[in-house]
Amino acid sequence: MLAFAARIAGDRARTRIVIDFDRKPSVTVHYMSNPDRIVLDLPAAVFGFDAADLSARGLFKDIRYGSMDAESARIVLTAERPARLVTSEVQPNADGKGFRLVLDAEMVSEAAFRALADGKDWVQPAAAQLGRGDRIMTGSAASDHKYIIAIDAGHGGIDAGATAITSKVPEKDITLSFARKLAERLSREDGIEAFLVRDKDQFLSLSERVVIARQHHADLLISLHADTLRQAGIRGATVYTISDTASDHMAADLAERENLSDAVAGVKADAEPAEVSDILLDLTRRETLAFSVALAKSVVSSLEGQVTLINNPHRFAGFRVLQAHDVPSILLELGFLSNKDDEKLLLDDTWRAHVADLLTDAIKRYRAPMLANGG
Ligand SMILES: [Zn+2]
Repeated sequence: MLAFAARIAGDRARTRIVIDFDRKPSVTVHYMSNPDRIVLDLPAAVFGFDAADLSARGLFKDIRYGSMDAESARIVLTAERPARLVTSEVQPNADGKGFRLVLDAEMVSEAAFRALADGKDWVQPAAAQLGRGDRIMTGSAASDHKYIIAIDAGHGGIDAGATAITSKVPEKDITLSFARKLAERLSREDGIEAFLVRDKDQFLSLSERVVIARQHHADLLISLHADTLRQAGIRGATVYTISDTASDHMAADLAERENLSDAVAGVKADAEPAEVSDILLDLTRRETLAFSVALAKSVVSSLEGQVTLINNPHRFAGFRVLQAHDVPSILLELGFLSNKDDEKLLLDDTWRAHVADLLTDAIKRYRAPMLANGG
């Protein structure tokens, strides 16, 4: 068996490795501690690709591969931080040239890694990725399950975000206060459980936020912000969904600034892991976007007439925090900290409670058709 090509992409939250083989490989995955490693055992193989194509990065600080004996070969991924494979699957290449092994690794807690390393001797993680997409597509978001909502307080830690024009309160504090209020309000609803992606003044990369939402099996992600504009006169809330092309200049600028969040803390922004062309994945992504847009519209109609909205309050741009392909996600700019009136409201507890009520209504209305369909 010949491994003839390889590629790796990702960051310290998730990393994807793809290796092409001329024949269909069987793969067994094993976790080992000290140092933390993910070990893959394969039948005898020749590794014919350029070593530079599989140089360590993202979650892995060292990657080795080679023959064990006449019958077997091994790939050893030494982890930079505790990680697990959420996908390890073999798929036929579309062009008929052999098969590819797709490995998707995600950060996990120290304890989760220990359990993997100590628990079962040999782990087959292929079934670990119980398609969240399937859940969305069949609408079987299960009546026996709680509806889980990830509330993401924008910025945090070294990344303070914007600064309020008069009070100088940093955006990261305003988003966290509001996130707490919203999570608490949502969790009062029957069948809904909201959790905070960050619950303290802590830096999280955008990619980490997405991974945390997925690891909690979030049905929705709401990222909260309150940025500044050069034009102090502009005020009001805006709801964003993801898109490759931005709806307008303001949306494009804002997404660019939000995406800089990682750079502030020295996190290397990396391209998206190379996606395998996968019809199911594309379907899931489209389906997810449709849900995100429906949620955005529901939020806009809840806020309309109740709080000040910007012109065209539903906008779109390439926000990295909205990139989960299987978790409907919106980013809510609650208002602008460059505007004194908005600032006053953003710091006002009564206003925050009112907006949390309106958002709760919006989510319930968005979810109603799914519940009616037995979801
Ligand atoms: Zn922000």
